[in-house]
Amino acid sequence: MGSQGQAATSDHGEAVAHFVFIPLMAQGHLIPAVDTALLLATHGAICTIAGTPATAARVRPTIDTARASGLPVRLVEFPLDYAKSGLPEGADNMDNVPAQHMQSYFDAVALLREPIESYLRAHAPYPTCVVADFCHPWTTVLASNLGVPRLTFFSMCAFCLLCHHNVERFNAFEGVTRDDEPVVVPGLEGKQIMVTRTQAPGFFRGIPVPFWEEFGDYVERARAEADGVVMNTFEAMEPEYLAGYSEARKMKVWSVGPVSLYHETATLAARGMNATAIDAGECLRWLDGKEAGSVVYVSFGSIAYSNPKQVMELGLGLEASGHPFIWVVRNAHEYDEPVRDFFDELEARVSGRGLLIRGWAPQVLILSHPAVGGFVTHCGWNSTLEAVTAGLPVVTWPHFTDQFLNEKLAVEVLGIGVSVGVTEPLMYAPATKEVAVGREVVEEAVRSVMGDGEEAEERRRRARELAEKARAAMKEGGSSHGNILDLVTRFKPAS
Ligand code: UDP
Repeated sequence: MGSQGQAATSDHGEAVAHFVFIPLMAQGHLIPAVDTALLLATHGAICTIAGTPATAARVRPTIDTARASGLPVRLVEFPLDYAKSGLPEGADNMDNVPAQHMQSYFDAVALLREPIESYLRAHAPYPTCVVADFCHPWTTVLASNLGVPRLTFFSMCAFCLLCHHNVERFNAFEGVTRDDEPVVVPGLEGKQIMVTRTQAPGFFRGIPVPFWEEFGDYVERARAEADGVVMNTFEAMEPEYLAGYSEARKMKVWSVGPVSLYHETATLAARGMNATAIDAGECLRWLDGKEAGSVVYVSFGSIAYSNPKQVMELGLGLEASGHPFIWVVRNAHEYDEPVRDFFDELEARVSGRGLLIRGWAPQVLILSHPAVGGFVTHCGWNSTLEAVTAGLPVVTWPHFTDQFLNEKLAVEVLGIGVSVGVTEPLMYAPATKEVAVGREVVEEAVRSVMGDGEEAEERRRRARELAEKARAAMKEGGSSHGNILDLVTRFKPAS
């Protein structure tokens, strides 16, 4: 690499690795990518994170805190060419791109290759490795033009990736006419896992639009041609699936998680990718007043949406459960007045017992408080892993994409979850029920996870055991720690 530009060196003049992160501009992809970059930087690598202005604005406080503590990380902004790609001005983050503009958005992001490449050539040190989200297949050209290896970054677990991969490579749905007909996932070691087509359609698959069909193929080619994989998971939780995925793809997989534990050594409050809708101190004081393990935390991540009837059923179920709760309603302000009134009335009825957060919550901070005893989650991978890291059992309520497989991992493989029984996607589907999960189901699932029966105790025991393993993985001598060190060493500039 030295021949292509000035190599990165440490303060002592040693050559060091320089990773260029190109995350997908969506919270669930961005947050773990930034945490991974910070972990690599903690161990001596230089990291550059490329993002659009809205992304950069979200990430900047975290990066500034890290830089102030001496970490060699830099954040570089690249605006999208809205006019050229026909995108509305300012739509530069997955959560502010109108659905009908998604194709243009992916086109516009791909156009960033040129400015990113020019920037990297002009600003020493020269990169030694590109770490790109799997949704950016165009980074194959970027890395090859720069003459550096490219790793695919996944904010997903190996179990989910292997299930998707095997379903596709063994044509598991061949001859299956109904989308809700379960088939056995072929080629898995251990437990038999059943999945339907709507639960595992494949990434960017199953959308009968030529653009997405081609894009799905492009993504698959880029994944197959990568020089390796970086994943936010840990060895002891899913060893057979990590090994299976590595073998199936014939490439090295570096499991580096749970990356949220970076903030154990840094400061948890600095992890805000959005300004929080509640002061972290206020939230902690509220939790301080509750008994250990008594509070259930409810959040559906940064994208999932519940229709008005469903959101009210959920609230009524939480109320009926009798347990203290923190309920995060990300988009509370988007509901019509009757629903907003419902939130106010519920809040008044459960005053002191229930806390509603209308907007962004300091999730990892809340989950790590001893008063929290369970998590009602949409099973986004980050949330699922954050529950594992905090040693919490979960009520699983998948909405779309990989969440169904994450649920299966939590409930069927790890034995730390109780499902509310959703089997079909609740979003991005042609027809969805108004109320997929009734209040009684919510009540029962919460009581079951938070209760003191034998099964609940067993679930808690398994969750605590996993949390210990998660921590051990990130400590010196642990598997994820070792993988981070290996990345830092392996991608040093060639001498
Ligand atoms: N998150 C948060 N506060 C919120 C909602 C989400 O800090 O109010 C974080 C959460 O801790 C996780 C990420 O956002 O790290 C969401 O990722 P996940 O994969 O769970 O779900 P997605 O948003 O991608 O559906």
